[in-house]
Order: sequence, then C-alpha cells, then structure tokens
Amino acid sequence: MINTPLAEQVRIVLAGDRNSGKSSLMNNLFGKEISIVTDRPGTTTDPVTKSFELGPLGPVAFSDTAGLDDDERDGEIGAHRRRRTEELLREAHLVLLVTPGNRPLSLSEKALLEAIRSSGRPVVAALTFADRPTDASKVEALRDLPHATVDNLSGRGVMELRKLLIRVAEGIDPEMTPVEGLVQEGDLVLLVIPIDLAAPKGRLILPQVETIRDLLDRDCGVLMVKERELYEFYRALPRRPKLVICDSQVFSKVAADVDADQPLTSFSILFGRKKGDLAAYVRGVRALGQVPPGARILVLESCSHHRQADDIGTVKIPRLFKQLVQQDAHFSFARELPPDEELKGFFMVINCAGCMASRLKIMHRLHTMQRLGVHTLNYGLFLAWANGLLPRALEPFPYEYAVFLRGAPLV
Ligand code: SF4
Repeated sequence: MINTPLAEQVRIVLAGDRNSGKSSLMNNLFGKEISIVTDRPGTTTDPVTKSFELGPLGPVAFSDTAGLDDDERDGEIGAHRRRRTEELLREAHLVLLVTPGNRPLSLSEKALLEAIRSSGRPVVAALTFADRPTDASKVEALRDLPHATVDNLSGRGVMELRKLLIRVAEGIDPEMTPVEGLVQEGDLVLLVIPIDLAAPKGRLILPQVETIRDLLDRDCGVLMVKERELYEFYRALPRRPKLVICDSQVFSKVAADVDADQPLTSFSILFGRKKGDLAAYVRGVRALGQVPPGARILVLESCSHHRQADDIGTVKIPRLFKQLVQQDAHFSFARELPPDEELKGFFMVINCAGCMASRLKIMHRLHTMQRLGVHTLNYGLFLAWANGLLPRALEPFPYEYAVFLRGAPLV
C-alpha cells in the first residue's frame, strides 16, 4: 500500500451555498484544478474528495460538496445531492464553511452552523469574495469562529487559511490505532493470516497492514504465519507471544493450536473497537438468545469490495446464523445504512469490520441503531461466539470482557 487510507485521514468538508466559491477555494488550496468552476449555481453535483499533505498533519482529505441551498426545483437530483452532502458532513472531522463575505448569513448557513455546533465538531469559516465590500452582519455573525478572508481570484488569504486549518485540525483527537493499550515496547505479537482463495492476490488486507504498522510503531516484534504452519511455529518460539491476532475465519483452529491460556483475539474485533463500539457488539451477542422466528437480519458492509464465492458477509455468516441461532431468519445485505423506516424493521444488524470507513461513519450507524432499538453485532464477535471463543477473545479488553461477564442489558 502506497497511500494512507482515506478512512485514516483527517477529513475536511467544504460546505456552503451554491456559488459561494467552494470549488474555487478547493482549487486554490490544492494549487491546481480539482473541482470544476463556473458562474452557474450548482455546478458541483457529486462531492469531489482529494487528499494532499497539509504540513504536520500529513495527508488530509478535502471534500467539495454541492450547495447547501440546492433547492426542490431539482426534485430527486437535488434531494440526492443534499443527502450526499449530509453524509459527508457527518463524516467530517472539521467543517470549512465557505461563505461570501459580502452577503449576510443565509438560512441554510445558519442551519448548518447550528447543526455543527450541536455536534461539537470544529468549524472554520472562509469568507470569500474579499475583493468586494464586506457585509458587517456576516462578520458579526462569525465573530466567534476561527475565520480567514480569501480572495479566490488572486489567491490572497489562502496561505492564512491553510495555517488556520492546520492549527484547528491539530486539536482533533486521532482515531484509536488497532493495538492501542494492548501491547508494550518489546512485546512479541503473532499474527495468523490465511492465504486462501479469498485473500487478494499479492497483498495483505487493510486491517492486517495497519496492525503490522501499529506494532512496528510501538517497537514490538511481529511474526506472521499462515494457520497451517501455526502449530509448528508456535511450539518453536523462544518465548510466548503477548498476543495472538488471527483472521476470524480461522478462530477455532488457532485456538486449538495455541496454549489454552494464550491471549487471543481477531483483526475484526480489533477493528470493531477501533471503528465502532465493542461494548455495543458485546451486548448484541446476548441478543442472539432472543432472535424470534422470521426475524429480519441486515448484514451491513462498508465498501464495495469484490465478493468471493464463499463470502464471509453474504454467505458464511448467514449460513452459520441459520445453523446456530434461528433457522427462519431472513437476511438482507446493504453497503449504506437504510432510512430509519426501513431499518426499524430489522431485529439485528451485523456490521463488517469497517476497515475502509471512518470511525465517525460507523459511530453514526451505531447511534442510529441504538435510537431505533435495533440490536447490533459485528462479524468478529459473531464468529468468536459461533466458534465458542467468547469470552476468551475478549480477554485482552478488560472493559468489554467485564461487560460480557456482567451480562449488560440488551441494546
Ligand atoms: S466490507 Fe467492511 S470489512 Fe470488508 S473490506 Fe469493506 S470496509 Fe473492510
């Protein structure tokens, strides 16, 4: 892998009314044409996302969005653009409000600011059209926000805006790393990685790559082995690994091949914690005992990866679920969270590890499910449970282990 995955980058979303200068500003920030600029309102239809190195922050993803004031005249298309803009705003670590400095705050800008403030996320304002007379009410309305004045035609103010974005973004808490709090410098960690037909040709998958990099960053020793060679290698090790991390699909073989008291978990459980809420998934495991006949179960993925013949989400998990939990369960599959009305009809959602999604996106999904009373689980915990490896696979996580043992309330 050459680039930092999008899901791991700080995301800055440019939002503002049509013709507020978002696309010109995006081009000025990048120093080249990224978004199409015309005088016609609403030129940016689908969001444009591009990354560049922003000083000490490293790669940062900027998204240019359709106008907040995209109105009903566009019917379905306008509604689609607004939905896409809302989705991006939910995933933004920082919102860059692009607003003409020569006009009063519009209703849509006010609504956006209220929504961002109530979410507690940082916002920076770029006052565009600096070549025109400033509207005093706009300056007053944005007085409390970090802001910069920009002239998109000459590029004046763009450097100041960059510096401001860096300063504000440096205060954003980074997403947890895969093995945070689980290992210390000098530990040996054994990774069990199946190279089967489902493995992508010539490379490792994202959770494996990120875990290896995190272990190296923490000055740990990393040993990788396929499940077939595990038994021999494990016994030949001069010292016991601090932790064994395996693919969920080989859980039971790995558990059988290592010592019974060897700390063991899966990549999917690590990413369930990193991207979402492991305790919520632990509560979901308890709900498996209450699945009624005919229950509707949604398998929710987070990207459009190529599905294999014996795909884990669409084939293996439904098959195991029907064998072990409820023969009459009805499965549906999606890559985006359905609307509330549809989601309410599901008894449970089984989430993928979310390796390609941001934590903000997965947490939004989990909050929505919790609000609607829909049980939630993830692949890793379901497979650990199905293989009889709970609570063992949770032992490295004291809080979630305690939640499991305590029998925390459902949902
Ligand atoms: S479906 Fe989920 S777990 Fe699989 S690659 Fe996509 S984001 Fe990662």
